[in-house]
Amino acid sequence: MEPAKFLVNGEWIATENKQSVTNPYKNDVVGEVFQAGPRQIDQAIMSAADAFSQTRLLTSFERSTILGAIAKEIESSKETFSKLITGETGKPITFSRVEVERAIFTFTFSAEEAKRIEGNIVPLDLAPKSNDRIALVRRFPLGPVGAITPFNFPLNLVAHKVGPAIAAGCSIVLKPSSKAPLTALRLAEIIDRTVLPKGGFNVVPCPGDQAEQLVTDKRIKLITFTGSPAVGWALKAKAGKKRVLLELGGNAGVIVDKDADLAHALRRIVQGAYGNAGQSCISVQRVFVHESVYTRFSEQLLKMTKSIASGDPENERTVVGPMIDEAAASKVEGWIFEALAQGANLLCGGRRTGAFLEPTVVTDARPEMKINAQEVFAPVVTIAPFKEFREAVQMVNQSEYGLQAGVFTNNLDHVLYAYRELEVGGVIINDSSSYRMDNMPYGGVKDSGHGREGVPYAIEEMTELKLLGLTMV
Ligand code: NAP
Repeated sequence: MEPAKFLVNGEWIATENKQSVTNPYKNDVVGEVFQAGPRQIDQAIMSAADAFSQTRLLTSFERSTILGAIAKEIESSKETFSKLITGETGKPITFSRVEVERAIFTFTFSAEEAKRIEGNIVPLDLAPKSNDRIALVRRFPLGPVGAITPFNFPLNLVAHKVGPAIAAGCSIVLKPSSKAPLTALRLAEIIDRTVLPKGGFNVVPCPGDQAEQLVTDKRIKLITFTGSPAVGWALKAKAGKKRVLLELGGNAGVIVDKDADLAHALRRIVQGAYGNAGQSCISVQRVFVHESVYTRFSEQLLKMTKSIASGDPENERTVVGPMIDEAAASKVEGWIFEALAQGANLLCGGRRTGAFLEPTVVTDARPEMKINAQEVFAPVVTIAPFKEFREAVQMVNQSEYGLQAGVFTNNLDHVLYAYRELEVGGVIINDSSSYRMDNMPYGGVKDSGHGREGVPYAIEEMTELKLLGLTMV
């Protein structure tokens, strides 16, 4: 198979540097990708800057039509995309199919939102000397956008940057994950076939640190980054005056109250903790259960965890496949051993084979242990009992992160208290932390991020308000 070329200024580019992409389950090479170097990245930035003079003037109708065409083409290649995602990430095929459906939604919704970038009228006659004045305010595209994306949703998280950028009238340079660049390059083929002006979308596969060029180059007006907190915050420190949107990780907490529907809570927690091998930023990591139902909850969780379908990601029954690579699985295995040595107990799991880590439940883990304090990004949960609801909220907040939290309760006071007190970007009632609809505002507080994604909210970040003051003389 020929290595995949990348797209700069409407041209498909091959270079002397190649990188191979490995399937973490079979450990075989599923593709090769040409790598962009500093010169090609510079060309991509230049072409995005040139193309912006055209993309900024596209009409709402034109932007919407382009996005609708992208959604339609993904729709007609659904299975190809699903297999590609499973091939390069090891994501179970049924989860890959869901991701493709979500990406179609994200582009379709972006097509709709492209028609809804409205403004408002501001009265200015609020003081005696400001008679006969009124102002119009509307949003204008910010400029070329630099987008950097992670491996775990290689299609939909790219869609969350490209969709709003095209809707807003911005041009784009995308740097996809080196672990999963094939899906983004396939999407680039589709975007290349639309009538988006040449250079309006560029994709530059390259090693992570080389993408800093996007962050430091003044022609890029906004960096939208999804990935790990360490990389994200370091990039923000280097971005100078550039606007930066950070969608980072977390160690999501979930509360199971005494009056919760336990069977429902267990189903959703198991799905939210182990689906995609826990490699989601809102994956359930820390579960706090009311003491009156703790024993029943932990017995059921143990049973369900042991019976979860694991293994070959191409098998339609598989829920837990491999993690992205052996290094990632081995790191978390080490954290589990460390917690056990420090006094935690293993309810089940904990064993690793290559990149595959068994779904794992740990009890008696203290907040400062890595499996609680850090983002595990693996099929691992800790469970702990609580007495008072307020105490559970404090336990969730005892974290440097704050992306989303789940609360299973039927007590309205507790719902309102959790909404007011939980230090997170979103509180999900009667579901786990691991819920996302692609139009909702999505992002974290504390170390989990800066700004919001979700199509209309990302469009706001990618545009700037401008006022037109009108004076009657
Ligand atoms: P990562 O290692 O931080 O990588 C993310 C992206 O940043 C990749 O494209 C990577 O390129 C690039 N990168 C790495 N170093 C860079 C540098 N110095 N300058 C510029 N770019 C650089 O994260 P990951 O392992 O792919 O993804 C997992 C993380 O993403 C987790 O923390 C997860 O919680 C987070 N995440 C957050 C959200 C959200 O919406 N909040 C959603 C999904 C995932 P290479 O691949 O070439 O290294």
